[in-house]
Amino acid sequence: MSKPIKHSFVCSCGHSFEAAIFKSANVTLQPDLKAQIFSGQFNRVRCSACQKEIDAGVPFLYHDMDVGLMVWVYPPMMASQAAVIRDKVRRSHVIVGSVLPVPGVPAGCEVVFGVEALRDLIRDMTNP
Ligand SMILES: [Zn+2]
Repeated sequence: MSKPIKHSFVCSCGHSFEAAIFKSANVTLQPDLKAQIFSGQFNRVRCSACQKEIDAGVPFLYHDMDVGLMVWVYPPMMASQAAVIRDKVRRSHVIVGSVLPVPGVPAGCEVVFGVEALRDLIRDMTNP
C-alpha cells in the first residue's frame, strides 16, 4: 500500500511548510491515485500561508500490476538531467534487483519525465 510521507516545501511567497506526498503509487491497489495522477492532482500541495497550490515536483514510482509496469515518473523540468537520472535509477535497480528491472519495459524506459510521457508509455504497453 502506498503511504504518504512528509516533505518540506518552500512556497514562492517565502513560507516554508510541510505536506504529505507520495513517493510511490500502486495504482492497482489504489485506483484513486491513478485518477489523481492523470488529472494532475497527484502530489499537489497547498501553502499554509498564502493557500497557493504548487506541484510537489518530486519523483515517484508508478506501479501498475495489471499492465506489469513499474516506472519512475520525474518532473518534466528534470528532463535535462535525463542521463544522470537514468544512470542513478539503473544503479538502484542493481541493488533492488529482485524487484526491478521489470519485464516488458524496454531499456531506457525505466524513467519517464512528466505524466504525458507516462500516459504515452502506458498506451504503448496496452496497445502493442
Ligand atoms: Zn505561499
